[in-house]
Amino acid sequence: MPTRAEPSLGGPASTVETACPLDCPDACSLAVTVHHGKVIKIDGSQKNPVTEGYICAKVRKFGDRVYGPDRLLHPAVRKGRKGEGQFKRVSWDEALELIVDRFQRAKRETGAASILPYSYGGSNGLLTQDNFDAQLWRRFGTSRLARTVCAAPTGAANMALYGKMPSVVYQDYPEAKLIILWGVNPSASGIHLVPFVREAQTRGAKLVVIDPRSTALARSADLHLPVKPGTDVAVALAIHRYLFSNGYADEAFLREHTTGADRLRERAEPWTIARAAELAGVDAATLEQIAELYATTSPALVRCGWGLERNRNGGNAAMAVLALPAVGGKFGVRGGGYSMSNSASWNIERPWIGTPEPDTRLVNMNHLGRALTEYDDPPVNVLFVYNCNPAVTVPDQTRVLRGLAREDLFTVVFEQVMTDTALYADVVLPNTTFLEGYDFAKAYGPIHLDLGRPVIDAVGEARSNADVFGELCARLGLLREDEPNGELDLMLHVLDRLPGAIGSDLRAGTLPAPPFGTAPVQFVDVFPNTADRKVDLFPASLDASAPMGLYRFQPDPATDRYPLALISPASEKTISSTLGELPRPDVKLLMNPDDASDRGLADGDQVRMFNDLGEVHCTVNVAPAIRRGTVSLPKGLWRRSTRNNTTGTALVSDALTDLGGGACFNDARVQVASLATA
Ligand code: SF4
Repeated sequence: MPTRAEPSLGGPASTVETACPLDCPDACSLAVTVHHGKVIKIDGSQKNPVTEGYICAKVRKFGDRVYGPDRLLHPAVRKGRKGEGQFKRVSWDEALELIVDRFQRAKRETGAASILPYSYGGSNGLLTQDNFDAQLWRRFGTSRLARTVCAAPTGAANMALYGKMPSVVYQDYPEAKLIILWGVNPSASGIHLVPFVREAQTRGAKLVVIDPRSTALARSADLHLPVKPGTDVAVALAIHRYLFSNGYADEAFLREHTTGADRLRERAEPWTIARAAELAGVDAATLEQIAELYATTSPALVRCGWGLERNRNGGNAAMAVLALPAVGGKFGVRGGGYSMSNSASWNIERPWIGTPEPDTRLVNMNHLGRALTEYDDPPVNVLFVYNCNPAVTVPDQTRVLRGLAREDLFTVVFEQVMTDTALYADVVLPNTTFLEGYDFAKAYGPIHLDLGRPVIDAVGEARSNADVFGELCARLGLLREDEPNGELDLMLHVLDRLPGAIGSDLRAGTLPAPPFGTAPVQFVDVFPNTADRKVDLFPASLDASAPMGLYRFQPDPATDRYPLALISPASEKTISSTLGELPRPDVKLLMNPDDASDRGLADGDQVRMFNDLGEVHCTVNVAPAIRRGTVSLPKGLWRRSTRNNTTGTALVSDALTDLGGGACFNDARVQVASLATA
């Protein structure tokens, strides 16, 4: 339906409703204006009350990706050296036949496990990951990928403690009298939470922010605790100890609804406020104020973010933070409890994949560099990358690039734009964006699910994941006759198999509600999905798998040569690395004035940041917005963003977190010096 006045090109413009499936907690409802088949404006719609008509600046500019100079428009095969980015256009048929031939050859010569599919959250939509792609990998018997680059430690903790019980949604934040934002900056990721936090503050709620940086929310908080990266577990255990030893622990709740409280109390016992504060480099009085405030306020809400998981103690930090409401007795009231990812709340099991996961080799995605350069049983001979850009997003960039440069490695990259990874591909396949196809957008901050529809035709010869993986399945003889074929078919097939009334609600154009409602109260409307429906505060399996056991602290990896902790938080410019191709102002390394003065650096200087793994050249921004001893470079940079074509991941080892096999991005320890004197 034409809804806007005619633009100068003439002819009517239309506004089309869709939804954002990108890797962001909010899953906004979108109103996209299209003119002559081209997107001319992307904005929020009123369909979803959480979106409330506005969206982030990132997606408002998404048209720059759709029509930008980096967009991939047709399949191509490499004609230059790997990494140079010289390609020759080919037809889809030629490209797919080449891939099928290499798959079959790999299976014959070194086994299907020598093929490694590699993907992450380039889209969080239900259609673009774990559908026909899963069908292909499972049925062909390739290696499996542990998708652990993000959310693995918090996911492991949440699952063990609560069985992924749905958590407090944005809409209930104004009910809280105390909000603790721990390792999360919703102003950059999950922006729709901010107005709800502000409303709570207006109604008199106290705000506490625990973050090494002084973010906008931290500056407006009642208390800000700028902890050293990696010490959150000690801080949370000190709050537990404070609750237990001052009679604030809710013993009745612990008896009725939990197991393992005594073991947690035992492990928290050594963590006095003074000891934890010294270790975390924070003011002990402020930490005690936070503990007292938490003990005495209800409803109290802890928003556990992903910043606290990206280090050697990340799983235990998430365990200790998420266990707080159980010990403090904060459940059972609206606005009380915890918020973590709600991604599993819909309980969608994807029966339509039709083949169980085989017991083939499991490769942790954080070990990509190692897998490409060291694995030999069998070696990785074929790499198929989609929905991600590992050349810049996973640890140990130097080794990843060395692996990608292997002349004997056959690499396929299925992408929307020419990423840093695609430059190393043997075959590049052009992928549709979410504006060109169907998908199911599932929020993991609020709890809602919406159907995304194509608002424009595919650009160039781009094709969807469903189309291409479905066709590869068919060409390899893996598609069964009664299975859907193509994106529209798959979307309708999935729509009919979603639990409850989700499918019919989506067909009717309304937002479906989960059985427990869109704003469940923990321990009133929802309970732990654990075997005994209790909170397991001391899961024995996690105690056995963590290197030093549960609720234990592994020391800081800093050395005299590399004393600074490098963190890489989400920025307002990219969604992970999506949109990192767009021109941006000079990327800056944030450094505390005291650290700058120690090194004779001034704001705007060109610096080299380095350790034994690599180095990054960029501009320094000297400001008190970060604690002393910690520096910050944005997540999601592309190689073009820095002066020497490396990103922060070049300084990150591929060591894994204590629980969940996650990436230890914030364990990078570095030195920074002037580039002029290097
Ligand atoms: S990235 Fe997040 S805030 Fe931006 S439009 Fe998508 S869901 Fe909304």
